[in-house]
Amino acid sequence: MPRQLFVTTALPYANAPFHIGHMMEYIQADIWVRFQRMHGSAVHFVCADDAHGAPIMIAAEKAGKTPQQFVADIAAGRKEYLDGFHISFDNWHSTDGAENHQLAQDIYRALKKNGLIDTRTIEQFFDPDKNMFLPDRFIKGECPKCHAKDQYGDNCEVCGAVYSPTELINPYSALSGATPVLRTSEHFFFKLSDPRCLAFLDQWTQSGAVQPEVLNKIAEWIEPGEDGKPKMGDWDISRDAPYFGIEIPDAPGKYFYVWLDAPIGYLASLQNRFAKIEGDAAKGAAAYTAFMADPATEQYHFIGKDIITFHTLFWPAMLHFSGRKTPNAVFVHGFLTINSGEKMSKSRGTGLNPLKYLSLGMNPEWLRYYLATKLTPRNEDIEFSPEDFMARVNSDLIGKYINIASRAAGFISKRFGGKLGAVSPDGAGLLDTLREGQDTIAALYESREFAKALREVMLLADKVNAYVDANKPWELAKKEGMEARLHDVCTVCIEAFRLLTIYLKPVLPALAASVETFLNSGPLSFGKANGGLPAGHAIGEYQHLMQRVDIKQLDALFEAPALAVAAQGATETVATTPPGGEALAPTITIDDFAKVDLRIASIVNCEAVEGSTKLLRLTLDAGEKDDAGQPRMRNVFSGIASAYKPEDLVGKLTVLVANLAPRKMKFGVSEGMVLAASHGDEKANPGIYILNPWPGAQPGMRIH
Ligand SMILES: [Zn+2]
Repeated sequence: MPRQLFVTTALPYANAPFHIGHMMEYIQADIWVRFQRMHGSAVHFVCADDAHGAPIMIAAEKAGKTPQQFVADIAAGRKEYLDGFHISFDNWHSTDGAENHQLAQDIYRALKKNGLIDTRTIEQFFDPDKNMFLPDRFIKGECPKCHAKDQYGDNCEVCGAVYSPTELINPYSALSGATPVLRTSEHFFFKLSDPRCLAFLDQWTQSGAVQPEVLNKIAEWIEPGEDGKPKMGDWDISRDAPYFGIEIPDAPGKYFYVWLDAPIGYLASLQNRFAKIEGDAAKGAAAYTAFMADPATEQYHFIGKDIITFHTLFWPAMLHFSGRKTPNAVFVHGFLTINSGEKMSKSRGTGLNPLKYLSLGMNPEWLRYYLATKLTPRNEDIEFSPEDFMARVNSDLIGKYINIASRAAGFISKRFGGKLGAVSPDGAGLLDTLREGQDTIAALYESREFAKALREVMLLADKVNAYVDANKPWELAKKEGMEARLHDVCTVCIEAFRLLTIYLKPVLPALAASVETFLNSGPLSFGKANGGLPAGHAIGEYQHLMQRVDIKQLDALFEAPALAVAAQGATETVATTPPGGEALAPTITIDDFAKVDLRIASIVNCEAVEGSTKLLRLTLDAGEKDDAGQPRMRNVFSGIASAYKPEDLVGKLTVLVANLAPRKMKFGVSEGMVLAASHGDEKANPGIYILNPWPGAQPGMRIH
């Protein structure tokens, strides 16, 4: 029976694009999921945007959007990252989806029926201008300890003191500036301190569902303290309107606190996936219910160490006391640090920008490989060091692994018609050693010991390289009468390369796909380590599989963007920094502008320009006709080859400067130019973005 797995990563809060911390978690989970799929397990790997809560409601208002539109705009940017780093989620949903509203209310009703919901009147700061209760982070004032001004309602960033908002001196609302007033409100609580909850959590957390170092942390919350009571109190799960969230049943004006419905989003995304599979919401709901009721279903969550309590206390208790399956395990990872050892987060800005990484043409599988060489099953921080990154990729991945294929493939294709030969006992012995590594490596992947798994693979690659050095195919190729031995040695290398590729495939899925094409082997999987490609099997032409890391790319990646300081709060810097990295041009009149004739043009064809790495040749239809009444096409060269592949652009609309004097270039005459945006400091902020009109614009329309 294949295993059936339900796997998630933590839901990202939908107020910002992904940062490198998200990508690390997704890569960790994706490697594990791909390994499971290679083993024949049926995996549902899902995630969703965490859409609710006051911060999103407030950010949306500032942006002049509805919260729904704000979240949709953030969600629209997700794919570029996920595809870019080969993250193979089966479904991406939103906690504002219909399934989540239903599930959250169902779970709440079940908890209430179980006597685990309580109401209590609490006192809280209220913004009389905005007419709403203020979350701690939206109350500011003077620190009661060190008297630093403009500190948040929960802690002081100057002296580190932790306090409650009511202790702030001269508090004010960060939203309106108004002085907040204390008001009472009825809140709903999940009674986590109920003896049934404590007993259940004691049992669940010790069932092997959490890592030992995590268990130590959470024991502090559920074991009785000196006063005989656990540190964990009841959990405030309600917020008052206005709030972007899910309404609490039978409680007008009350919403679930975002952290209540966020993890339920895992279930909602899974149910949404089943609805897509079944092609129908009701059938999807039934399939989801059956799947989750099946004792064979295994449920795993990958999360960061900052959200342990939500996932190891609140979440399993919510599931258990609403009659649901509890997670088999919650896998906690540490943070990614870059040289400094400081936590990388969106509020601290730059660090390693995932899209910048991709835009520099850096291979996403370098990062996957590098992170995998660092990842362990433990909750510990891992360090990104640029020098180490380059060494691991260039020395290990390229030097030890890729080179095995590049040294042997040429001889197979030139000397032996692309066909593999027979293997003699010394080579067969080496291949047996490689095949014997399979079970160990699989077990290491299963237990998320990725660093150890890759060390094993590289030790095997060392053995293959020792064999290559001992047999020197490049010398055999020059000697008389050594044809058969050359064929034998190169065949061993190709089979060894196939085995190593199987072991690396969870980490390097795109590279493995190229190798499958090259070897003409069909999909590689762990079960296929045994056997091997037979003598006479024809492999394909070897294409270069992976470039080396260039130090210049790493320099560019970590170069501080010129405008990084223009982030939150640094108003004086904002005033002196030109927008987009360059000062505004001198003022012109409307007549000056009218001299420029901008037209909508359709990109009919686009191709690379031989001899130029910068230019693309565009064939544009701007709605023009020639003397014979036939469509007239424009030939335009544009320096956008670093940003777009020709096939990305064909069929798209863009904007043409239609009355620009034709310009004779080395490659032909350019009849106009297309509009594209880029930063004034291209080195620090690479990226070119071609203009694309809204749907409905037609070729030939003038832009006024
Ligand atoms: Zn202070």
